[in-house]
Amino acid sequence: MSNNSPLIDGENRAVRYLRLSVTDRCNLDCVYCRGVDRPDFIPCDRVLRYEHMLRFAGIVKNMGVTKIRLTGGEPLVRKDCAAFMRRLRSEFPDLDLALTTNGVLLESYLDTLKEIRPVSVNVSLDSFNEADYLKLTGHNSLSIVQANISALLEAGIKVKINAVAIKGVTDAGIDAFLKFASEYPVDVRFIEFMPMGRGTIWKKASFLPASRLLELASGRLDLTPARDPESTSGPARMYDIKDGAGRLGFISALTSHFCASCNRLRLTSEGNLRTCLFDDREYRLGGALRDPRVSDAKIAAIVRAACRTKAVGARLLSGRRRRAVADGGMVGIGG
Ligand code: SAM
Repeated sequence: MSNNSPLIDGENRAVRYLRLSVTDRCNLDCVYCRGVDRPDFIPCDRVLRYEHMLRFAGIVKNMGVTKIRLTGGEPLVRKDCAAFMRRLRSEFPDLDLALTTNGVLLESYLDTLKEIRPVSVNVSLDSFNEADYLKLTGHNSLSIVQANISALLEAGIKVKINAVAIKGVTDAGIDAFLKFASEYPVDVRFIEFMPMGRGTIWKKASFLPASRLLELASGRLDLTPARDPESTSGPARMYDIKDGAGRLGFISALTSHFCASCNRLRLTSEGNLRTCLFDDREYRLGGALRDPRVSDAKIAAIVRAACRTKAVGARLLSGRRRRAVADGGMVGIGG
């Protein structure tokens, strides 16, 4: 098989989407992301250089990956991330590029984003209430993030808001989310809180299922399932809002898995390949990516072999007894 033939996993799913974590460092301390263990950061000398991330991007692009999302940690805290984004765009003009960010540092990236034309910028924003935002993220940055979202919209960049659903916070504050999605052309998406990492603070009492949020939203707005293909292919169930500018989405990461349509790979900032969020097997590609004697074909063969046993996360979880859905915290994996 040539290393350019499409990447199909052992369950016959085409792999087309790479989530690339450029750093495990972050400028916020979101309680659901890092947990109480607060793992050490990866030492700088083990973090992949941008040139090696570009190499990996080229290899998987040749295998049929069409979309790369930069994530982290917080991708925008890594030095020279703007230059990296520009290089990704210039080397791979036909790739869909996307970014997931907490939005705090966006202002100084606006020119770069206008230039690289991301398919979307996903901004994590868990509450429109200052006290709740502070409690969840450990920082007082709500007004900065709101201003930066406005700037993205003014620049004509597609914005998706990601809110981790937490009982007592998201349901209590739902009106602000609904107002925002009604007034602005954004996708507001609620993500079920997953117990990621052994030190997770997740507990049943704080779990708010997507179905409950949909029920609350449907009681307040006239919602109809969105029809466009983009909305039906991703993990979010999207809804149009009657007379609203934006849309609502519900990501039932725990209560209803979307494994059958999973098209993702993840590369951590250390160069570890993860084929399923819930599968802790990681394939260490850092050494190979750094080594010019290891050919792209050899690395492609490792990726292909890893995908052959890409897990079905729901099956993995059904056999597990412990609370955490993965050993690693989200901050190191990238969401
Ligand atoms: N720093 C960036 C940000 O804040 O979006 C990117 C990294 S963050 C790990 C990526 C996404 O994972 C965010 O949307 C975040 O809300 C989500 N996330 C983190 N921990 C989560 C958890 N335990 N359950 C569900 N989503 C989580």
